[in-house]
Amino acid sequence: MSRLVVVSNRVPDPAKGPPAGGLAVALNSALEKMGGVWMGWTGKSSGVKEPGPLQFVERGNITFALTDLSRRDLAEYYTGFANSVLWPLCHYRLDLTEYARKDMAGYFRVNRLFAERLRPLIQPDDIIWIHDYHLIPMASELRRLGVGNRIGFFMHIPWPSPDVFFTLPVHEAIIDNLTAYDLLGFQTEHDVENFALALKRDGIGRDMGDGWMAAYGRRFQAKAFPIGIDVAEFASTAKEAVRSKAVKRTAVSFAGRDLIIGVDRLDYSKGLTHRIDGFERFLIANPAWRGRTTLLQVTPKSRSEVQGYSDMQRQVAEHAGRVNGAMGTLDWTPIRYINQSVGRNTLAGLYRIARVGLVTPLRDGMNLVAKEFVAAQNPADPGVLVLSRFAGAARELDAAVLVNPYDVEAIGNAIARALSMPLEARVERYTAMMARIEQNDISKWSADFLGMLQPEEQRTTEPV
Ligand code: UDP
Repeated sequence: MSRLVVVSNRVPDPAKGPPAGGLAVALNSALEKMGGVWMGWTGKSSGVKEPGPLQFVERGNITFALTDLSRRDLAEYYTGFANSVLWPLCHYRLDLTEYARKDMAGYFRVNRLFAERLRPLIQPDDIIWIHDYHLIPMASELRRLGVGNRIGFFMHIPWPSPDVFFTLPVHEAIIDNLTAYDLLGFQTEHDVENFALALKRDGIGRDMGDGWMAAYGRRFQAKAFPIGIDVAEFASTAKEAVRSKAVKRTAVSFAGRDLIIGVDRLDYSKGLTHRIDGFERFLIANPAWRGRTTLLQVTPKSRSEVQGYSDMQRQVAEHAGRVNGAMGTLDWTPIRYINQSVGRNTLAGLYRIARVGLVTPLRDGMNLVAKEFVAAQNPADPGVLVLSRFAGAARELDAAVLVNPYDVEAIGNAIARALSMPLEARVERYTAMMARIEQNDISKWSADFLGMLQPEEQRTTEPV
């Protein structure tokens, strides 16, 4: 059987033992089954001009190969091209893209560095799985170094419509690089369609049907593999967690009020100001609910070094402050807005005691919080998920209360509807959503992708 080589921008710190988050667990378990290498960035800057040597850590049959990045590499590759061009572009925020040729050059340079460092670790039968928008050029860099192995790529964030994608000055180079892969994985059918449309409109390739595409004289497969969570594990974590001190204390602090929960990195794609305004509309239109419900918005800061985040961070805080100032009373604060991250177990318990999960990103590749919220519910008395139709998760979770996240009145109405939904309707929606997320569990995601990436003669129906 082939070994597996995974490359991702960040790698969970192997010194901390097996990882806890969904995706990291899935990749870790595929690596444990197949044996292999996990390469990526440590999350640290070397502080000097050079990136520093590759650091090796062995854990069982997995070799972690980790690299620091120089300050310049970080500024150009990570903060620059990946997070100030590709991230806003793929989330339809053309107003926030900051295109600079030096960042583009840095992006390719770091991808070349990763490829050169990975090259000596690759064995002839390995299959290679590259993750996300930071590392699109990895396959062509590896091919240049003579790597003929099967290489797959998974895009965790949305693939935008061609009109948006073509505003990227180097869009041809990005597509050209993607054609060096054998298999491209996207979150939804919609992303696959957008990608195929870009090939067609630019006249550089075409969808040949049956999951095959061709461009620049190369043939490759492209398919949707919606990422999931470990549903059974998350459900049991949530059940346990409601008995924990942290969750009990939080519940007491809400003094019997119905809890509405939002959990998002502080990112402009998450629609936070619209959400807060939607909650305000709900309170204005439904005065009877004032004092009887609280929105807990858990929002750890992220990427504060990237321009475009600081303005947004200020705006979100202002909106929350304004609503609290206008609506709050001596003994009731409508929105509890916190910038700390909350541990997975506590989060699972909070989802379970919440009556409503508010997940209203303006654009999101998948959104795992939506799936976690569903998995965490008490089947006998489930809360209601209000979900943006522009989250990848809405494709599977069509039994949620779907909203247009730009329409603050619609958000307000959806909250009112969710809070007063009868038990029978809640159970019906919950059951339908659970069935879908159980079908598309995280282990299926990696097994499906790797099953398709494996050379044909080695394919089995066995989950990897
Ligand atoms: N998360 C967490 N603590 C927090 C906030 C978020 O553990 O304080 C986790 C959350 O449970 C989820 C992930 O971070 O698993 C966020 O994934 P999602 O797909 O929703 O959004 P992303 O941050 O990848 O855009």
